[in-house]
Amino acid sequence: MNKVCNFCGNMNFTEKKIQYIYKHDNNYLIVNNVPCDQCEYCGEQYFEANVLKKIEKDYNDIYLTGKKAKSEITVPLEEFVEL
Ligand SMILES: [Zn+2]
Repeated sequence: MNKVCNFCGNMNFTEKKIQYIYKHDNNYLIVNNVPCDQCEYCGEQYFEANVLKKIEKDYNDIYLTGKKAKSEITVPLEEFVEL
């Protein structure tokens, strides 16, 4: 593997499973255990195209086709107000 980080030029990556938050038109899909390569220097995460495609497909299945997600959570929402 001869990958170089686009941001910092580092060439060392760690394979990780992370929580990916996909947002589209103010709808969210959270996917756990998504594989990525994380830059060991700056922490930038790189995903394979087919991983992102799969998440997009899951999103479409849930929001467009009405597929039931594995589970649903309620997320608190606030507006930021300066003190
Ligand atoms: Zn980097």
